[in-house]
Amino acid sequence: MSIRPELPIKNLTELGLPELEALFASWGEPRFRAKQVYQWVFQKGARSIDAMTNLSKALRTRLTDEGYAVGRVRVGRVSESIDSTRKLAIKLDDGAAVETVLIPMGDNKFSQCLSSQVGCALDCQFCYTGTLGLSRHLTPGEIVDQVIVARAHLPEGARITHLVYMGMGEPLHNFDGVIGSLARICDPDGLGYSHRRVTVSTSGLVPQIERLGQTVPVNLALSLNATTDEVRDAIMPVNKRWPIASLMAALRAYPLPPRRKLTVEYVLLGGVNDTDADARRLGDLLRGMAVRVNLIPWNPFQGPGYDRPAEDRVHAFHRILDAQGFTVTVRVTKGLDIDAACGQLGERPTAA
Ligand code: SAH
Ligand code: SF4
Repeated sequence: MSIRPELPIKNLTELGLPELEALFASWGEPRFRAKQVYQWVFQKGARSIDAMTNLSKALRTRLTDEGYAVGRVRVGRVSESIDSTRKLAIKLDDGAAVETVLIPMGDNKFSQCLSSQVGCALDCQFCYTGTLGLSRHLTPGEIVDQVIVARAHLPEGARITHLVYMGMGEPLHNFDGVIGSLARICDPDGLGYSHRRVTVSTSGLVPQIERLGQTVPVNLALSLNATTDEVRDAIMPVNKRWPIASLMAALRAYPLPPRRKLTVEYVLLGGVNDTDADARRLGDLLRGMAVRVNLIPWNPFQGPGYDRPAEDRVHAFHRILDAQGFTVTVRVTKGLDIDAACGQLGERPTAA
């Protein structure tokens, strides 16, 4: 199967406002109807054409008769962690599945981690999703629909305030799918998220980082994860194509809106990339840049034989960067008990 899925052109969740306007114009419907339908799909999260109650019965019937549908994904199993992180299995039309995670931020606010591909081609050695290989890209509608269906799984009164493309897949490998989803997510008539509440995380595809910067002013997170090409080559094969110096150049050139910072993610693997010398080299690489460093102690899964570093190692690493004046956070591990933490997403084979 191709990694580029075909778009069902008769699914309203895949259509942008211009496409809907063109369709309705060809049916002789007034232009404002297109915006009404678009808002039903993306703002109100309607799951059927019949739910769009301010449309005329005739228009609803025509949409249905012509074979239009709404909604691209279904929620399967929902797991809730003791820390109230929720992981949703997301079922796709072709039987494939991805996962999305709702992470509590306090104050009834949640951050949602979105998947952009079924599996991932980049083969980072420390990442469970990487072990699955890539089946296919998600369509724009499949990405956006993760947000729409997740709303029903929030606690009473809670909201999804931030979106991070940190679920399954490498978002910049599926560049068009991700840009298409951002167009709906950041559109005031669509999901209405400000660009500053949206973060795209990448393992470092340099040309696509440049294209992203020229296309939408979302936040960028780079998964650096090593301070020498030798170590990065070993844990992230993509580094052989785009080594650290080329990444740093792309980050320095990224057109960051005023008062915003890039995020540099750094997965700490015990004994591999977590020494004091690594922390100092990381500081050297990032000196003078508007960055926030996010340290992520490795979340274990069976197989690669890495270790999660001891807590005092994490603190020591943190202190060195702190002393150099960087803003550093250690990612609080959430959802570990339900395999919903970073790098743990992807269906597990069920025990026989
Ligand atoms: N493909 C993108 C986004 C998804 S991965 C990327 O690589 O950036 C999201 C984050 O999880 C990345 O920073 C990645 O380095 C990190 N990660 C992957 N596997 C991990 C694991 N087992 N433990 C902790 N972090 C992990
Ligand atoms: Fe893919 Fe990101 Fe996992 Fe690497 S860390 S295999 S790029 S999902």
